[in-house]
Amino acid sequence: MLCALAGGLAPVAAAQAAPPTVAYTVAVVPRSNGASLVLELSEETAYDVTVLSKPDRIIIDLPKVAFASSGGKPSGKVGPVSAFRYGLFIADRSRIVLDLAEPALIERADSVAVDGRHRLILRLARVERSKFSAAARRDMARKSQAPTETGALPAPVAQDASQLPLVVIDPGHGGIDPGASSADGETEKSIVLALSLAVKERLEAVGKVRVAMTRNDDSFVPLNDRVKFARDRKAALMVSLHADALAYEPGVRGATIYTVSEKASDVLSAKLADSENNADQIAGIESNEDVGAIGDILFDLTKRETRHFSTNLARHLGETMPKSTSMHKNPLRFAGFRVLTAPDVPSVLIEAGYLSSAEDAKLMRSAEWRDGMARSIATAVEKFVGENATRVLNSAAKP
Ligand code: ZN
Repeated sequence: MLCALAGGLAPVAAAQAAPPTVAYTVAVVPRSNGASLVLELSEETAYDVTVLSKPDRIIIDLPKVAFASSGGKPSGKVGPVSAFRYGLFIADRSRIVLDLAEPALIERADSVAVDGRHRLILRLARVERSKFSAAARRDMARKSQAPTETGALPAPVAQDASQLPLVVIDPGHGGIDPGASSADGETEKSIVLALSLAVKERLEAVGKVRVAMTRNDDSFVPLNDRVKFARDRKAALMVSLHADALAYEPGVRGATIYTVSEKASDVLSAKLADSENNADQIAGIESNEDVGAIGDILFDLTKRETRHFSTNLARHLGETMPKSTSMHKNPLRFAGFRVLTAPDVPSVLIEAGYLSSAEDAKLMRSAEWRDGMARSIATAVEKFVGENATRVLNSAAKP
């Protein structure tokens, strides 16, 4: 059944028995002062609309729908809609995402029977920024206050600890692979393990998330296994911790936050990613370059979404970390780190500082620095999880 938008947003009905609804057409068409999303469905279908800001989007969740076309081709801008995509989101749920270039909200929804099919038309109109922001805030509040409303969506902050979102902390290197080292022999692997344990302790003390670590001791973990670790556990996010060294530039210092990208933000980031990606080779493992490279359209949709979220997480870290450590002059960068390639787990890699810098090396050994960093990282992680309370954080859309 279809619930009208008036007086609230329609919750998605419980998962239905087969056969699934077929979506013959998904289109965004222009209209005066906006655009319309037109869905041609085999039957009347409940849906749930969520307004999200930063970046501005409108999300339409449906029960599992078989889309007649892949929807993979990027559409041009239509009114306030800069792009849209759709696909299976999790096993029993499909999703349509409208990216907005300008603030807009659904002002009217119509469902009409046409030749034995059902046409759902969601009419978007441009609105003031303040009105859009208020809608986004209201949706966040609605979702966090009514965790059971959407049924299949897990509630990140639930009574049962096993329902809390899982944060994977990934201390780089370990065992046979020491990573970088300082002039006086301090190793990256031990500095990042100590920091990871401090982050874990901090997060568990606050209690909003569960924490799992890819290693708890001085053992080697291949890069692929780290990615798989987070994916298998359906982690809400993964933070990899490292500490770089620049042998020929001992004056360079400060922390950097990286997200994944095929194209690096700069030459140094590309070099760093190459050296971090060498970890398996250092340990004598032949690397498989095709981590998660499945050529599936739904997979690509998920990956794009995940990258949005990784960038948001990096931004939060960029705000909290300067409170507890010195930052590199360009702290937010990107490069092809293999450990960040989970397509469905938002992931960032923090280079906590440079072991080649005497000041940074001294700093990273101090318990005071470690506690401050742990607090900063935990604060950013909790903010990210809170903001995404309604999102199915692990959205592995497998065919
Ligand atoms: Zn490293």
